[in-house]
Amino acid sequence: MLTNVPTWTTDRVELLKSHFEAGLTCREIAASIGVSRNAVIGKLARLQLTRGPARAEPRPTKTARERSRKSVPRLQYQILQAVYENAQPLQEEPIVSERRCSLLELSNERCRWPISTPGAEDFCFCGNTPVEGMPYCSGHTRLAYRPGTRHRVSRAR
Ligand SMILES: [Zn+2]
Repeated sequence: MLTNVPTWTTDRVELLKSHFEAGLTCREIAASIGVSRNAVIGKLARLQLTRGPARAEPRPTKTARERSRKSVPRLQYQILQAVYENAQPLQEEPIVSERRCSLLELSNERCRWPISTPGAEDFCFCGNTPVEGMPYCSGHTRLAYRPGTRHRVSRAR
């Protein structure tokens, strides 16, 4: 339509920009330039001048969403913490060696943890089923690799 005069002449765009930078509201800019408020909002959006209050409103919604997102890892952390706290006493449970055996009876299927003092008459080995790939059962594996343990891994042959 040739009769349609474009709303946004170069002069009006310059006015729009200067008014926007001066902090005028869309309504004030519209009144000043002589266009509709919607035209100002639309032009500002196209010029990516997005400091207006129309764009600021959705932000609290986003922040609320981010907050709920952040609470998820915190929940996972709490679950993990509970798991570890519950697991802690298990390590302190006494290790029951029901299949105690002598040195000669030791095999790859038997825990090599020495019970009592080596050389004593009742000296024997734990004999429990070892953890796969380890010389000891699960309980004695924990003991053997616990920091500060005095037990020598190389003693049992
Ligand atoms: Zn054992």
